[in-house]
Amino acid sequence: MQIKSRHRFLRALSTMSAAALDSLFPRTCRVCGQSLTVGERLLCVGCMADMPRTYLHRLDFNTIHQRVAGNHQIDLAAGWFYYYTDSSYARLIREAKYDDRPATARALGSLYGAELAADGLKGRFDVLLPVPLHRDKLLKRGYNQSLEIARGIASQLDCPVGDNLVAIRAHKTQTRRSGLERFKNVEGSFTLTHPGELDGLSVAVVDDIITTGSTILDCINVIADNSAPVSLNILTLGVTHMR
Ligand SMILES: [Zn+2]
Repeated sequence: MQIKSRHRFLRALSTMSAAALDSLFPRTCRVCGQSLTVGERLLCVGCMADMPRTYLHRLDFNTIHQRVAGNHQIDLAAGWFYYYTDSSYARLIREAKYDDRPATARALGSLYGAELAADGLKGRFDVLLPVPLHRDKLLKRGYNQSLEIARGIASQLDCPVGDNLVAIRAHKTQTRRSGLERFKNVEGSFTLTHPGELDGLSVAVVDDIITTGSTILDCINVIADNSAPVSLNILTLGVTHMR
């Protein structure tokens, strides 16, 4: 078989097996619940189109920069979509976090990474550092959703995911805290295991969602105070609207 026709044959075979799998285990859109067609992943074409994207990576100074304004310059700060608690898109992040679905977190990261790559961000970061989970929480949840999201993004941007940033102290849930309380709550929660390894690198901190920005700011401070990266950046899936 010629190489081209062999490729065509293999592609047809994989499309057929994907269709067969779909009929055995129907895949549905995580936003609207409709059946997905072959080629659609997690979200149907309509829900992908309707997603309230932020496009913050195209702005030099945006709402994320404002939230983490402090001692260190942040170059690119981006989030995939606006997070409204009651929206179906918010469910995507909750699923990735709480429903024991690391594959969902990874797939969401990969979809976002593909859009960042299409916007020319391949090669922009030397390493992605997920916001770490403390050991106790990791044992409870089984995986770190931010690590899975980072893996998905990294797969599209062709950069490694580092394990340099670690949580040294568990911080309590932040849902009912004010901005200042949250900041106090996370201060001193993280550290770097090999600070020198980040010298001269373009580093992006990755999290599932940015609210007040205090958790990410704590990570940024730890990185910038203990190493000499050439660029600090932020990537998240969800961005809440600040009141
Ligand atoms: Zn849908």
